[in-house]
Amino acid sequence: MANIQLGEKLYEESGVKAPAGNEAEDAFDLELYRDATSSSRAFLAVNLSLQIFFKNHPANGGDWDFGSRQRFLEDYKAAVYSVWDNQWDIKCTSGNLAIETVQVYFYLKLIEGGWNWTENYEVTVTKMPKNINPKSSTSVLNKTVTLDSNDTNGVAKKGRKIGCSGASCSVEQRGAAHEFGHMLGLRDEYPGATDPIAGWEHDGSSIMFAGETVRPRHYAIFLPFLERAFAKEAQLTSRSVEFKVDGLWNLSNSSLGTRS
Ligand SMILES: [Zn+2]
Repeated sequence: MANIQLGEKLYEESGVKAPAGNEAEDAFDLELYRDATSSSRAFLAVNLSLQIFFKNHPANGGDWDFGSRQRFLEDYKAAVYSVWDNQWDIKCTSGNLAIETVQVYFYLKLIEGGWNWTENYEVTVTKMPKNINPKSSTSVLNKTVTLDSNDTNGVAKKGRKIGCSGASCSVEQRGAAHEFGHMLGLRDEYPGATDPIAGWEHDGSSIMFAGETVRPRHYAIFLPFLERAFAKEAQLTSRSVEFKVDGLWNLSNSSLGTRS
């Protein structure tokens, strides 16, 4: 978990709908905290509760046991946090706040099996033989995710690093980290996907293409929340509070698409 010191909680919303892409309903709970060590920085905590169902493969996957289930849960968190945590600063670009920078961190609550009424997604993980490439999917309408036990291992994909040619340019991706992007409402960026968004078809290393790089545009989904969090300050200063990821990216230039 991130080594940060949360200060006062400034604002929170639960059951937040993703404002772009597939516009997932009730995708996450958001909390905004002061940094206990710096008045110009805040932390955005993106919380998701996931109910995890482990399923054995009907053929020869080897059955789940306590050890392999625990390992999967740890690898799953590690994949999501290492890819998605604190990749870009969100900057206040309107200059009317003491807070200049917001850092983004993800917190997963994984609940195994059983009944639960408060989860954001139900995730079914099938135990697969080692050499079979995973075919995972996410339905933002049904709030379900289908993964398998290989989804926490990097798999070479067809994408390429930008401006690079040759064998060393191919990128790897853990399916768990890519599907997590869909859970946030983000859509596929690679040509040939069932329903890709246009505009990013050359960005092979993007997490929503074939790699594991989170781009500033992917954090733009959190900007409307931050602007709601500071509605009072906007009123007091008679000026809207504006945030941009890396100081440049907002929802309009991020081309995340809408629900199609
Ligand atoms: Zn996808």
